[in-house]
This record gives sequence, C-alpha cells and structure tokens, in this order.
Amino acid sequence: MRATRPDYFERLVATQAPEFLWIGCADSRVPANEILGLAPGEVFVQRNVGNLAVPRDMNAMACLEYAVDVLKVKHVIVCGHYGCGAVKGALELPAAAGGFVAHWISDIRATRDRHAAALRGLPSQTARWDRLCELNVVHQVFNVTLAPIIQAAWARGQGVAVHGLVYSLADGLLKEVCSPIACGADMEAAAAQAEAAAVAGDESDAMLGEAFSTHQWFATEAAKDVVEKQAGGGGGGAKGGAGGACCAGGGACHAAHAAAEEKAATHAGS
Ligand SMILES: [Zn+2]
Repeated sequence: MRATRPDYFERLVATQAPEFLWIGCADSRVPANEILGLAPGEVFVQRNVGNLAVPRDMNAMACLEYAVDVLKVKHVIVCGHYGCGAVKGALELPAAAGGFVAHWISDIRATRDRHAAALRGLPSQTARWDRLCELNVVHQVFNVTLAPIIQAAWARGQGVAVHGLVYSLADGLLKEVCSPIACGADMEAAAAQAEAAAVAGDESDAMLGEAFSTHQWFATEAAKDVVEKQAGGGGGGAKGGAGGACCAGGGACHAAHAAAEEKAATHAGS
C-alpha cells in the first residue's frame, strides 16, 4: 500500500469524512466497501441481521446519529440483498422456534403480515422471498426517514438523502426499490404520488407514499391541536413537512425532489 500511496495510513489516521452511511445485512457476501467500490474512510457502516433500522435498536440509531450529526454524511443507504437468510426466516421460521434470531426478525415478520395478500399472490416461494427482501428495505427506509435524527437534520437545513437498494448476489447489481427521500417535501411528494404509483403497479412507491401520507395526517392533526391550544398564537409551528425548513440543504435535496415530481407527473399521465 505504501508503495502506491505513501501517505495512505497518515491520511486514514488523521480523520474520516465519509459521504455515506450504509445500513446493510451482516451476511458475509454483502460487504459495503466492496459493493460501493469505496476505500476505507469513505463509508460509515452499520450491519445487522436483515439490515434493520428499527427505532428500538440503539446501536443502529447511535450509528445514524453519529453519521448524520457528526460526520455529516450526505446519503444514508439502506441496502438489502436477495437470498437474505433473515428474510427467509421471516417467511418460514416459526416464532415458536425461539432464540434471538427468531426474535430479531420479528420486524420482517410484521412486514410479511402487512403484505400477506400481495405475497400470497406471487407464484412461488422464491418470488415471495425476493419481494419480501424489497419490502423490508422499503420499511427500513421509512424507519430511517422518520427517525428524529433525520427529521431534525432536515429541520435545520442539513442535506441528507435516504435511499433504498437491494443487492443481487447473482450479478452484483443494485436495484433501487423506492425513490430517494431527501427532505420533508419529498415525503409530501411520495404521499401525493401514492395513488398514481399504485395504479401504475409500482407497489414500493405506493407503499412508502401511503405510509408517509398516514404519518403526515397524524403530524398535521397534532400540529392543529397545538395551534388550537395556543389559542390563536400566530400559526407557524410544525405543519408536517412541505415548505418549512426542508430543502435548505441544497443540491441533492432539490435534485431528488425534482425527480420525484417528474416521476409523479409520469405516473399521473399514464
Ligand atoms: Zn441478509
């Protein structure tokens, strides 16, 4: 290493300034740096069984907090993979099996149950396995996006986009399973395009959109409640997303927003 890059270790010791946080599976076949083609120091990594990012997991949330608040990563990538043993366990391992794994994958089992009708309609267990790998990622994107760490970053104008990808062990390709979410306005756009996406058969976007739509409804109702209690205290307050402080982060946010709008327009026109 010193022969080709004499200052390699000195630079590594000095600091880390990654642009990416990778939330991926612990599976030995899906190493973050190799898949992304990045060197040590370029991606902050959180891996666990089934690439989960649930709010009760203090390890994942601490990684998210450090990556966003201290390292100022620009992108959070939730990456699942086809052939994931954790997802297969959620399909086939009975909870009665007991043990930590059966407990840990409860979140994926809940996703399976939420989409039972769609999964049952698929022609084979392999197709259901693949689809649940994708749905699990979409749910984890939702978890990350709604995490107070990300919400607070957007509120202060920090640009950070959340991506959902699934890696194929068979050909090494990454598939994007939902539109990137880079600000509160993207959540609004995703909610708005949910119906069109459902009509177009884009189940992942429709699902994420519906989830955001539901979230926004509660956020808006809560905001109304606060305003009413303040008895005419000049409006303002949390209004559930669009406008507000989001989009102050600049480039990545605006680009993702424009792409989401274009996609929604395409769906609406089809
Ligand atoms: Zn896995």
